[in-house]
Parts: sequence; C-alpha cells; structure tokens
Amino acid sequence: MKYVPYVHPLQGTASTFHYSNGNTLPLISRPFGMASWSPQTKAGENRWYFHPADRHFFGLRLTHQPSPWIEDYGHVTLLPQSGPRQLDAAMQSSSFHPEEMVIAPDYYSVQLLRYRAQMELTPSLRSAMLRLSFAEREGARLVMHTFAGASQWQIDGERRRLIGCTSANHGGVPENFAHYIVMEFDCELDLAESGIFDPSLNVISLAAAEGEQLGACIGLKLPENGQVHVRIGTSFISCEQAARNMARELGELSFDELRAEAAAAWEQKLGILELDQNEDQEKLATFYTCLYRVFLFPRTWYELDANEEKIHYSAFNGEVCKGPMYSDIGFWDVYRTTFPLYSLLCPEELGEMLESWVHVYKESGWMPKWVSPGERGVMPGTLVDAVFADAAVKGIQGFDLRSAYEGLLKHATQVSDVPGAGRQGLAHYLEHGYLPHEHVHHSVSYTLDYVYGDFCIAQIARALDDQERADAFVARSRQYRNLLDPSVGFMRGRTENGEWLEGFDPLLWGGPYCEGGAWQCSWAVQHDFAGLAELLGGKEAMIRKLDELMTTPPHFKVGSYGQEIHEMSEMAATDLGQFAISNQPSFHIPYIYTALGSPAGTQCWVRKTLEEQFSAHPDGLPGDEDNGSLSAWYIFGAIGLFPLCPGVPEYVLGSPLFRRVTLHLANGKSFVIEAEQQSRDNKYVADSWVNGEATDALYVTHEQILAGGVLKFQMTDTPTSKTYAHADLPYSLSRMND
Ligand code: CA
Repeated sequence: MKYVPYVHPLQGTASTFHYSNGNTLPLISRPFGMASWSPQTKAGENRWYFHPADRHFFGLRLTHQPSPWIEDYGHVTLLPQSGPRQLDAAMQSSSFHPEEMVIAPDYYSVQLLRYRAQMELTPSLRSAMLRLSFAEREGARLVMHTFAGASQWQIDGERRRLIGCTSANHGGVPENFAHYIVMEFDCELDLAESGIFDPSLNVISLAAAEGEQLGACIGLKLPENGQVHVRIGTSFISCEQAARNMARELGELSFDELRAEAAAAWEQKLGILELDQNEDQEKLATFYTCLYRVFLFPRTWYELDANEEKIHYSAFNGEVCKGPMYSDIGFWDVYRTTFPLYSLLCPEELGEMLESWVHVYKESGWMPKWVSPGERGVMPGTLVDAVFADAAVKGIQGFDLRSAYEGLLKHATQVSDVPGAGRQGLAHYLEHGYLPHEHVHHSVSYTLDYVYGDFCIAQIARALDDQERADAFVARSRQYRNLLDPSVGFMRGRTENGEWLEGFDPLLWGGPYCEGGAWQCSWAVQHDFAGLAELLGGKEAMIRKLDELMTTPPHFKVGSYGQEIHEMSEMAATDLGQFAISNQPSFHIPYIYTALGSPAGTQCWVRKTLEEQFSAHPDGLPGDEDNGSLSAWYIFGAIGLFPLCPGVPEYVLGSPLFRRVTLHLANGKSFVIEAEQQSRDNKYVADSWVNGEATDALYVTHEQILAGGVLKFQMTDTPTSKTYAHADLPYSLSRMND
C-alpha cells in the first residue's frame, strides 16, 4: 500500500484570523524538513498567506512559519514570469486553475495562466529543486521577493547562481541571524535582464547589493524545450554551508529521482502505522494526513559540516555550535500528544530532539518554552518538563538527561531575570503554593501547569535516584489543591491573602484562565485525578461533573479578552458542550472518564469527536492544529490509545476507529491493535485481551507495547459497566476512593 496518495496537505488551510479550521499550511517538505514550501495566494507579509478558495498565485514561498500566530522567518517567495517584467509583489500574481494544482508532501505543481509557465518543486531536507517550464522562451525569468529585514544578494553569471541571505524574522533572535540561500540554474543566465531591486522596485545593481528587503530577478536563456531546473540550497550558517547542503542532498539527482527519494522518505514514516487499504477511504485520508502533520514539526535545524558532523547556528547565542538542533515548536501545545507519539513512532529522532533542548539550555541558560527559531516565551508553564519526564520514564536514549534535569530544576527553583525564560511569578509560587491573581495573568492556568511540571520533575528525580528532590517535588505536585474551590466545584483564581476571586462564573474566559474558562481549565491535573475526584466529592460526583461539562451548551463570555477570540468561536460551533477540542486544555477531558473507571464516557465522546470533527478537507480540523498536537490527538484516538499523563509510561485505552492497525516499532517488533466488530455504532468496548489473555486493565504500558504483541478489543453498541480493581485503573498520585 502507498500512503502518500492519502495525504491531503490542504487539510485545515481554510482558516482566517477569526476562525481556525486548523490554521495549517499545505507544506511541501521532507519529514521534519528544515526548508518547507507553500503556495502563497495573498500579497505581502500576511500571516494568512494561503487560502484554498483563492484563485491567484503570488509565488511559492520558502517558509518556516509554524503557525500564523508565531509568523514566518527567513522566508522568500519565488515566481516564474514571462512577458513584461513585474517586480511589484502586489501586482505580479497569476491566476491558476485550482483543480490543476498538485500539492503533495513530496511534490508541487501549478500552471500559471498569466505567464504560461508551469512551476514544479520537490524538496530535500534542507534544499529543493524547481522545474520551470515556459511556453514562451523569450523574456523568461525567476523573480524572488523578500520580506522586511536586512538582505544581501549576488548574481554570479559564470556559476549560474544567485546567492545571498535575508534576516527577515519576528523577534527573539541574535543580531547576526540570517537565512542563507543559494540557487543554481541549469541554463545560462541573461545577465542584462537580471538584477537586484529595492522595495521601491528600482534595480540597484546587476551583480551584487546589500540593503533592506532586496529582491532579485534572474533572466533566463532557456534551452529549446523551454525548461530550466533550479537547485536551491538553504542554511542558517553561511552561503558556503547552503551550497554544501545543496551539493550533498541534491548531488546529481534528476528532478524525478529527487521526487522519488522524497516520496520514499514519506512512505517510510507514514508506514510506521499500517492500516488495511480496505478501510473507509475518507478515514484513511484523514488518518494519513494527520500522520503527515505529526512529522512536519519540530523542524530540523542542524546541518552537517564538511566532516559530516552535526552543527547548528544558535538562535540563542548567535554562534555556530556543535550538535543537533530542532526548532519551531511550543511545548504547551505539543507535550500532551505529539511527543508521547514520537516515543512510539520515532524514538531515535525524539532522543535527538531532546538533545537539542539540552543545547538550548546550554546556549541560552534556560530550557525552551516556544522556540521559533529563538525563544518566543509565550504560553503558560514550562511543559518541556513533561517532554523530558515522558522520555526519562520510557528509557528514550540519545540525550543528556542529567543536564536536562539541571535545566528543569533551574526554572523550577530560580527566579528568571530574562523575560520569557523560566517560570513567570516563580517567587510567588514558591511562597504561596499558587500564583496570586493580582500578580500573574492567567494565574490558574500557570499554577496548574507548574504543579504538573513539578510532578514531571519528580519523575525524573526518581529515575535519577535523587529521592530527596523527588519527595520535595511530589509534595509540590499536590498544590493544585490550593486553587480548587469546593464551594463552586472548579479551579478558581485566588488573591495573595488567600481570598477567592469575586464574581465566579464558569462561562467567563480569560482572567485567571488561559484560552478558556473554568469549564476548560480546571482539569490540568493529569497526574492525580483520584486526588481531584476526592476534592470534587468523590468519583461518582466527578463523573457527573464531566457529564455536565459534555452537555452544557457551549456558551461563553469573552471576559478579560474583551473580544471573541477564535477558540471561543470554534467551541461554540461544535456540538460537544464545554469540551473545546479546538484547543489544548481540553484535549484530555474525555479520557478522564477512563481514569475514574468509567471508560464508556471516553469511548462515546472520543469516537463522536473523531467521526464528526476531523477530515482531510480544507475545513477538516476543529481548531488550530498547532504543530502536530491536534493531529497526534486524532492518531491516538484512532488507534485506541491516549497518553493521559505524559511522564507516566502508560496509555489509557479508548475506542479504535479501525479494525486493525499495526505499529511497526523502531526495535523491529510490531504491536497490533484489533477491534472486532468495530463499526460506527459499535463504539463501546465489551472486552479486551493482551496477547490472548483477557484483561480489565484500562491502560497498557509503554513496556507492553515495546515488547510487541496484540491488543484486542471486542466492540459493542452498548456501554459496558464494570467494577475495576485499583490495579486496572490508570496511574494516579493518590489512591482512588471507592
Ligand atoms: Ca491552540
């Protein structure tokens, strides 16, 4: 079975500032590619620069944009032209027939009606090849537009090259940051028609220039067939390194050979999770498109020097440093699903990513929060805690756990004087055991993320036999109790002197809660649902509370946001009560039923969400995809597992969407998940077996999966009610009271 044909990169691209159907880009890229490409259908520096309904093409963009909220860097846009030269980026667009455009992970093609030219691209990890085919040879050219930032370009007619760099970025990088690009043409350049132009569209040099936002135009002396290939190398280190990357990755490969290599790289990744091709075709497309998205970020950010050693430009100290680096990822977004999924799909690459985060600590003094490519310092918590804890308890290799531990301890114990680094408000947290509302915005969300982060640090301490610290951090991990107000039954903002914040309303967003209200943000206690249940009046009371959450109409009040933010709109558009699958704080909510020994609730709501909220279409995601996080949520749901508490090597059981899925493990073994009698109606689990042995356990361990074998479910259309022994319930710090 070929998997790439099931990938539809347009998934989630029909998004706007006010409403996200994914806020994705249709990226043409290698898995974890350093250089990604996207068609651009809007002019200029627009964060929503592609929309599938648009009929005009402004160029193919070399892009590193992880999401429109974070914006692009090191980006340029390329457009082939013929006829009168048009250097104005806003005036140069060409129409195209959308049905003729091909967007695949390994290949892009568009026919430009205005210029009577076809533009094709196939990517390598840090480079790419363009194939431009012109109907008319006269006046053919390639125009490159850049974005705000210093730039310098040189046209080398003898070597048929354009080389140079752009420093376009959106903050958080050292002054010497630049993206280096080399383009090599396989036809002679028409130097009289080539030049470097400034933002006023004046050609300021025919050969070389430096200045603000300079573009370049390359005249082409086309051969008889009207076709030219452009080999493109990129680097964050130097022009020389860009040329090295290009030579190493493209070599003498033809366009079609390079495309075959790109397709094979994707087939290898997508094939790790093998489904039967007789399954529902739409569901296969959704599954493999989500799986493609899981492998786009974080972006490879290291390069290989002349001796094939890994090196990277440090977006933290401005130097070229040894070792691997990955970028364009925010840990608040991805700790829940993406990284636990990597522990199953690509543990070696995961180890290399973790070594990169250790490098970030060594180069910047702090562990990363949201890197793109420097530290952007957004979103609550320091959830890199969970990423390392999950890897530590699962025995992931390839990184320096002791240095990581040192970095995690630093932000958990030392007040940071660097904006955006460390734990905001840490002194208050250490003093009070919570963040007082008057001192820290989104105080509930930040507190809960710190508390869970502390649990994760305790897990690493235990793995490293640092029992004293493990005990201290376990004690800290019970502090979520400080914000649970039993009189309202939710987490609630609290002032420095211990008083609850006035005017509680569970529909009110913002204030103490980040991107949600009390309904969405009271459950970030992944490590201790038994303890939370106790505070909420017991297991049965908490199950009733979850039922109420899932069935309360999705009303909201804009609260401190002052306007309706897109996450509110997306929740309101969905028939899932106050469960906002559109955004991360809600991701695990339906799985809490299973933690409480009531798995039918999980099976019902997860299956409904998978069936109704995801597709491979442009409107196919229920909210921001966020660098693999929502896609990984879908993948876990579809295979019937979920990492409810990253940092604990367990996956709770769900309701598989397919009759059979085979996970091809990196250790050579296979873990098969079968769902007998699976159908749209048969969403409930009647019985389950591990390797032929009946089990009532509501989870499987990472170790069980790594050993290979078969997890089998017998599905049915009616909820099953059982009484579960303590050992059958997923991990919880406290013991569940019956
Ligand atoms: Ca989000």
